[in-house]
Amino acid sequence: MTTPRTHFIGINVSGTQARAALVDSEGALIEGRVGGVTPKQLVQELGAMVEDLRSKDVTVAAIGVAIPGLVNRQTDRVIAPRDLPSTILGDFHGELMRATGLRVELENDANAAAYGEFKVGAGRGARNLFYMMIGNGIGGAIILDGKLWTGASGFAGEVGHITIDTEGLQCVCGNTGCLETVASAPSIVRRARERLNRDSTSSLSRLALNKSFTAEDVAHQANEGDDFALMMIERTGKYIGTGVASVINLLNIERIVLGGGVMDAGSLILNPIIQEVKRRAFQPCFEATEIVGAKLGLDGAPIGAALLARDATTD
Ligand SMILES: [Zn+2]
Repeated sequence: MTTPRTHFIGINVSGTQARAALVDSEGALIEGRVGGVTPKQLVQELGAMVEDLRSKDVTVAAIGVAIPGLVNRQTDRVIAPRDLPSTILGDFHGELMRATGLRVELENDANAAAYGEFKVGAGRGARNLFYMMIGNGIGGAIILDGKLWTGASGFAGEVGHITIDTEGLQCVCGNTGCLETVASAPSIVRRARERLNRDSTSSLSRLALNKSFTAEDVAHQANEGDDFALMMIERTGKYIGTGVASVINLLNIERIVLGGGVMDAGSLILNPIIQEVKRRAFQPCFEATEIVGAKLGLDGAPIGAALLARDATTD
């Protein structure tokens, strides 16, 4: 039984950083932490973060841990981690439980963020939603009838690896021309760089002055009115919209929530996405879908992980 004072902790591990959230049983963020983690000490460092948050005057019932990469929920094993040490392929789940003395739910980061948005963010009030996380990679998650639908073995929603360009570049997944190869943050930078190199008119762009610009810089310059940067953001929106149109045709889903760093460009990217979806999706499906930006930002994944732990405990 969950009493009002029972709390939950969610942690999102991403590369060398971990972001933790202590939430109450309603999903309200009580306290957050951000800390560095190292491959060798990962379990101990996460354990210390949990200990620190537990020192508050609350009872923590369970923790949820979100990681980039695939997680088999049946076996609680991590498969194909991204930007994480290979030790995570061992008994990471068991080690975390031993280190914290708490029940641990392990989940893919996009799934966790989707659940957070669904419960307390931009997905509130919907029964069905599709979430897309567009950052260094592109992940996705499906919530059907109020529940995370993870597929036959836990890997559903990998929208970043649907093919957008059959003649496209090699992707990390082994396929070529995936959405991720054109619309992830590093892909935006690559595409912008290629164009700056071959197109003399784009040399007027402020981006041409900065040799090591990031996707954030592209969005920033677009916001400042830089035509070239704006065009790059709009084209990225077209690619994402093409992927979203397929999702809508497949699922006739009520709401699409778009999150991740690339969506920080706000309406500059959201509008071309919606336009492209309208152009490509089956019209009745398009009209039944609301396409919105995520609300929880970087807290989405830790809050969602905590709520997954809560709901696994109370189910
Ligand atoms: Zn791929």
